[in-house]
Amino acid sequence: KKMIYYFGKTRTEGTGVSKSILGGKGANLAEMTSIGLPVPPGFTITTEVCGDYYANGGKMPAALMADVKTNVETLEKELSKKFGDDKNPLLLSVRSGAAVSMPGMMNTILNLGLNDVSTAGLAKATSNERFAYDAYRRLINMFGDVVMGVDHEHFEEAFDAIKKKYKTEEDTQVPAEGLKELCDAYKALYKKETGEDFPQDPIKQLEKAVEAVFKSWMTNKAVKYREIEGIRGLLGTAVNCQSMVYGNMGDDSGTGVAFTRNPNTGENKFFGEFLINAQGEDVVAGIRTPQPTEEMSKWNDPVYQELMAIKTKLETHYSEMQDIEFTIEKGTLYMLQTRTGKRTGMAAVKIACDMVEEKLITEKEAVLRVPAGDLTQLLLPSFDTAAWAKAEKIAKGLPASPGAAVGKLAFTAEDAKARALKGEKVILIRKETSPEDVDGMHAAAGILTSTGGMTSHAAVVARGWGRCCIAGAAGVKIDAKNKTAVISGKTYGEGDELSINGTSGEVAEGSIATQPALLSGDFAKLMVWADKFRTLKVRTNADSPEDSARAREFGAEGIGLCRTEHMFFGGDRTLAIRQMIVANDEATRRTALAKLLPFQREDFIGIFTAMNGLPVTVRLLDPPLHEFVPHDEKGQAELAKELGVSAADIKARVDSLHEFNPMLGHRGCRLSITYPEILEMQVTAIVEAAIECTLKKIDAIPEIMIPLVGTEAELKLLRRKTEETIEAVKKAKNFTGKLDILIGTMIEVPRAALTADEIAGQADFFSFGTNDLTQMTFGFSRDDINSFLPDYLSQDILLVDPFQSLDTSGVGQLVEIACKKGRSIKDKLKLGICGEHGGDPASVQFCHTVGLDYVSCSPFRVPIARLAAAQAAL
Ligand code: PEP
Ligand code: MG
Repeated sequence: KKMIYYFGKTRTEGTGVSKSILGGKGANLAEMTSIGLPVPPGFTITTEVCGDYYANGGKMPAALMADVKTNVETLEKELSKKFGDDKNPLLLSVRSGAAVSMPGMMNTILNLGLNDVSTAGLAKATSNERFAYDAYRRLINMFGDVVMGVDHEHFEEAFDAIKKKYKTEEDTQVPAEGLKELCDAYKALYKKETGEDFPQDPIKQLEKAVEAVFKSWMTNKAVKYREIEGIRGLLGTAVNCQSMVYGNMGDDSGTGVAFTRNPNTGENKFFGEFLINAQGEDVVAGIRTPQPTEEMSKWNDPVYQELMAIKTKLETHYSEMQDIEFTIEKGTLYMLQTRTGKRTGMAAVKIACDMVEEKLITEKEAVLRVPAGDLTQLLLPSFDTAAWAKAEKIAKGLPASPGAAVGKLAFTAEDAKARALKGEKVILIRKETSPEDVDGMHAAAGILTSTGGMTSHAAVVARGWGRCCIAGAAGVKIDAKNKTAVISGKTYGEGDELSINGTSGEVAEGSIATQPALLSGDFAKLMVWADKFRTLKVRTNADSPEDSARAREFGAEGIGLCRTEHMFFGGDRTLAIRQMIVANDEATRRTALAKLLPFQREDFIGIFTAMNGLPVTVRLLDPPLHEFVPHDEKGQAELAKELGVSAADIKARVDSLHEFNPMLGHRGCRLSITYPEILEMQVTAIVEAAIECTLKKIDAIPEIMIPLVGTEAELKLLRRKTEETIEAVKKAKNFTGKLDILIGTMIEVPRAALTADEIAGQADFFSFGTNDLTQMTFGFSRDDINSFLPDYLSQDILLVDPFQSLDTSGVGQLVEIACKKGRSIKDKLKLGICGEHGGDPASVQFCHTVGLDYVSCSPFRVPIARLAAAQAAL
């Protein structure tokens, strides 16, 4: 097995080798070298070696270092430099790089190869003693910290002492002499803390650094990040050892990071930041605030033009927006990294559309390129324009990740996480965020930092999640210890609420109203392409005219699930349904139902009107009855009074409704079996509404759906009652027009799936209720799973919450069986899904594969399902 791939002028071995072997960074360094970009040469140790390291119980593979030495020798020849040399030493950077980018999560060591001898050599070669000893002290510090676990504070203290001695506060003001002393102090410190001398043998340094990178793969923060991002199944990290170039060799040197297009908006404009006389880490760490790349042409126009040419070359080569790192050493430009740039959902859509226009990609590629789930960000609210204009802005920072967030202040990641878990909306407010904070950043509604640039850790990570973020709001003075922040002269604490606008970078006090998203032209364009390629139809789950109308705007092609019990909430309706439930005889029940009928009819008219010309699947009453009745004494007393019966009566009836396992109790079709008058009332309301709409030339297409069926006999009986009621209403209304109402069932009980061939005889359609089907297949209560789900996820017993993403191998098998058996009886049997999974991209893919006709999901997920359906078809 090849362990190391070389890249440079001598040869480039990794061209076309997959990211899973070379890691993203390694694969792209090889790729950039092969297309002739100026990349400092080096070599990549594969992810497989890291995998072996862990398989060996944390031991370096025997042959690795011999191989490393051979590659170092090639580098030495290519660059005419020598490792540890006293004249012109070779120096390396050692960086991690997994197949999937994990910004800031793993280790980097720079200036490797410096020791007492080669530092003197570097001073000679560069005629810059100060620079050489500055590099050396950085190495001892980084090596001590990253490889040996020496607390960074110790190094800070030693540096402070030197600065005091030389009467300066700035690192950059310490003279060469002082840095030499500092190196000695660092070495002594290193020895004291580790019990060993700082290694003078460059190969020894390299070996330890490589191992430290391997180890960083399994640190808590890295494991946590992979968990949150759902990154699984990787072997480990690759290690990139690359010859050093320096951005800190004077004012003709510099370093920067950039995106080839704007990662927030998608605008086709080079977007980046650079620092003169600085090393790469200074930009990303957010310690100094960098300048925008536009300013570069004033500083060194030829280099800027070269960078622009590289931008075009990279985008043409990858047909993708790139995120790059570069360094200028004494006026010469070097590319240190390129990768696909993380972007907001908004930018993803714009870039995909623009690239089609620019003929870089096809419409199909554009559809495949936007992660369906990221559309959520486009559909999310922003601040109400008028309210925001009026609000007093108390601070301004960089618009690092767009959107609107309102919340109370949390000063640490732990606080943010703990409070968010309790349901509180929080803004994580920090000087700068470090990779250790990912948990809290993920939990927060928004992130506000007082330092750092557009490419700082907080910005990059937040953007990836579509989390609203403002970075570098310098006017915000944070006292993390006392959990307060002073903004515009006023002190804010944990109980105070702020509104942050990630689109403008402004902060306002209090809670500002938000408004729904305005769907842009590019969004509509992408949706048109998606609709062209998909074969699955997309419906929505809605039970009010407003939701129906909104879903229709989002492109819903009908209603796949109207949960009628949701129509009984509020005012007179609640009273009437309670009266129906507590009735002790049929007559009283019918009286109550008669009061409910007009409400239902009006609702249906509203929904049919909103969905004019599109099918509306109405599901008959489903939930356990006890959900509607009051359980406390006061509520029961009030109900008794309103209904004119005794409180004891009410209590007795409520008690009798008590079920040990309500989700498996008296609900769904079981209610209509016991109380057929409920079905009668609902079907009557549906048919009367449809007739009224038809007379008003509104094209109502109701479909009646019977829930929780497990046997053919249940459906047979209820179908007959439904048909009888439809006929009775038509007759009573003297209606002779056309009104074909399909009658179907949900498949949500495993037995129904297994006997779908029997059930299909009674059904015009099936709709998979995968919420209940998942509940009953796993035997997991859908309402209580959170008490153990975190343990299942953290121990990899489950990879995802099965109520969010369909368990294709188990629950999915039942879906597949039911589809096959159903269609073996009726080959045109209409099949859909209306469980939560209908809006989950991975589940939509599955639905496409098993041949469903449609998916149905909540209104806000309709566009996601449309895009996911297209991606499934391509
Ligand atoms: C289902 O069970 O998947 C379903 C859609 O019905 P409900 O969620 O209302 O039980
Ligand atoms: Mg259900």
